[in-house]
Amino acid sequence: MSSLLKLEDVKVYFEVKRGLRRTFYVKAVDGVSLELRRGSSIVLVGESGCGKTTLGKVAVGLLKPTSGKVLYKGKDVFSLKGRERMEFRRRVQLVHQDPYTCLNPTKTVYAILAAPLKRWGLVKRREELLDKVASLLEEIGIPPEEYLFRYPHQLSGGERQRISLIRALSVDPEVIVADEAVSAVDASIRVELMDLMLKLRGKYNVSYLFITHDLAVARYFAIRSRGFIAVMYLGKILELAPEDEIIKRPLHPYTKALLAAVPVLDLEYAKTREPLPLKRLDVPSPINLPSGCRFHPRCPYAMEVCSREEPLLKEYSKGHYVACHLYDRG
Ligand code: SF4
Repeated sequence: MSSLLKLEDVKVYFEVKRGLRRTFYVKAVDGVSLELRRGSSIVLVGESGCGKTTLGKVAVGLLKPTSGKVLYKGKDVFSLKGRERMEFRRRVQLVHQDPYTCLNPTKTVYAILAAPLKRWGLVKRREELLDKVASLLEEIGIPPEEYLFRYPHQLSGGERQRISLIRALSVDPEVIVADEAVSAVDASIRVELMDLMLKLRGKYNVSYLFITHDLAVARYFAIRSRGFIAVMYLGKILELAPEDEIIKRPLHPYTKALLAAVPVLDLEYAKTREPLPLKRLDVPSPINLPSGCRFHPRCPYAMEVCSREEPLLKEYSKGHYVACHLYDRG
């Protein structure tokens, strides 16, 4: 599988001024490397404020990192010019968390979906436009005859998000960065929306970088897409592995704590799960990160070395990477 999007040691530091003299740096993303290959998907999961959205913005070229590289088919995204830059913008699309704010409230569904088709010259004749928009709506289970001339405020949250999704897919992208794309909709339609994304993945041959704070959602999407899960904490990837590996054999204490916190309906199974009592529940400030392993103030297994040395993300078993001193060898 060829590489589509590659992030190499990406760092994003924001300068924060407090008073006249004091300047702090928020390390929103602190040395992340990820590779999204054609036909695969990566689910990026972590608590709110861990840097996931910042990383998503970097991946689509909206935010230039402080250091590190973002490569699209081997080329540095922030050096692309002219035609190549336009090609990148079309082939790598972002689906936002809140579809209400990213759909123009003054435009009808027809106008919203027709605009990118015209912009990228994907429909040759005007007469074809209506048919094309109608067929896009049919693909997402929305009857065009009823919805074509509705405005965003006349749609439900799920309908708005489906329109956001098909708008991104309509320009024939290779990568969709879905940032909390199902978080704003009711739990009852979350699964439906993820199933739709997965169904359209096959048709449009698209790869997803799926970002979520919810491990239950991450697990569902990763299992169905047979993708990878990357666990992010305070700007770093702590564990990365194929979905079945990380769910069945989580290595990092933080991943174990996240998995133990996912609610389950099966009471018998719930009894067999061992909770992982963290030393502290609050997440340290990204302005003042803990020394060594940034999880050590909360980790029940913390050792002396943990507050001194930052563990590197290393391959523990085939395709399973973890950043934790518990797995240091020799
Ligand atoms: Fe816990 Fe140490 Fe591993 Fe960090 S490196 S997760 S503190 S055991």
